[in-house]
Amino acid sequence: MPPVDNEMRQAPCPAEYGEYQQTQIRLLQVSEKVLIVYAHQSSGSFNSAAKDAAVEVLTAKGCTVEVSDLYAMKFKATATAEDITGKVKNADHFRYGEETKLAWEAGKLTADITEEQRKLTEADLVIFQFPMYWFTVPAIMKGWMDRVLTLGFAFTHEKRYSQGIFKEKKAMLSFTTGSQESMFTANGINGDMNVTLWPLQNGILHYCGFQVLAPQIFWAPSHVPSEARGTMLESWRTRMLGLLGENPLAFTPLDCFDGEKGYQLKPEVHEKHAAKEFGLTVGIHLGKALPPNNQMKAGV
Ligand SMILES: Cc1cc2nc3c(=O)[nH]c(=O)nc-3n(C[C@H](O)[C@H](O)[C@H](O)COP(=O)(O)OP(=O)(O)OC[C@H]3O[C@@H](n4cnc5c(N)ncnc54)[C@H](O)[C@@H]3O)c2cc1C
Repeated sequence: MPPVDNEMRQAPCPAEYGEYQQTQIRLLQVSEKVLIVYAHQSSGSFNSAAKDAAVEVLTAKGCTVEVSDLYAMKFKATATAEDITGKVKNADHFRYGEETKLAWEAGKLTADITEEQRKLTEADLVIFQFPMYWFTVPAIMKGWMDRVLTLGFAFTHEKRYSQGIFKEKKAMLSFTTGSQESMFTANGINGDMNVTLWPLQNGILHYCGFQVLAPQIFWAPSHVPSEARGTMLESWRTRMLGLLGENPLAFTPLDCFDGEKGYQLKPEVHEKHAAKEFGLTVGIHLGKALPPNNQMKAGV
């Protein structure tokens, strides 16, 4: 997002405020860059339609949109020594994290990784569009995460979670399921979707610092009537009109944990939360009930 200039800081008179605010929102959004990391094999799929809708609406709003179409790119999914050009430091005991950090510093990561890192560096918002596979992203998209979000570039020991490298950027998951919504609830056969999303949204996106927007879930598009699919796409288009202004999901800030004591929650934070009904987040639940919709809706 561009820096807020002095003119924008000047307070307008109240009567003009609504219009002024709308204009500023539009101005701010004009230069936003969006990267869509997309994983579906077929251009006739519902995922393809969701991706196309995103490109169309966001472009019409003035955003610059890039798409990484992973299957079309034949994106390599495996994290191996071939991801480094030239000699690695220790071929006998190859360690992906350390070696890719050195290679990133020396400009020796392969061209496909470097290009995705360029797109990511420029993006203000990253949308991951995919069909849910085995409760997570398809392997090709996990490969993108493994290979592009490298140590040094995407995170360091000091720079992670709320202090993460991408803390000025937003990211979100937009995905389809085969299951109905009722199956992914606390009483449903698959369990609570909030729990399913925690590893992806906390362990990958927020770990790298991203402000994580609420997921867009298209429930079972293969099993609903055609009109219902149209409605789902229409509500996605409507959501995208305000997407860049949405508040992110709530996570526990890094400074609530004590790095000297194995990154345990600081006693004063624990104490402050003692009388509360729910845990802090899905993962940091403190042995209490999970905060409802913690990984599904902002502001809870
Ligand atoms: C390996 C694997 C693992 C899986 N694991 C899980 C899992 O853990 N949990 C789970 O819930 N599911 C799982 N699934 C199911 C999978 O998530 C769904 O099959 C997938 O999400 C459906 O999305 P799609 O885009 O492929 O649908 P498609 O079958 O491509 O599309 C659905 C329907 O939408 C129609 N359509 C396309 N474009 C439009 C348009 N513009 N407007 C209206 N309709 C349109 C299509 O013609 C089709 O009728 C798994 C599937 C596989 C292969």
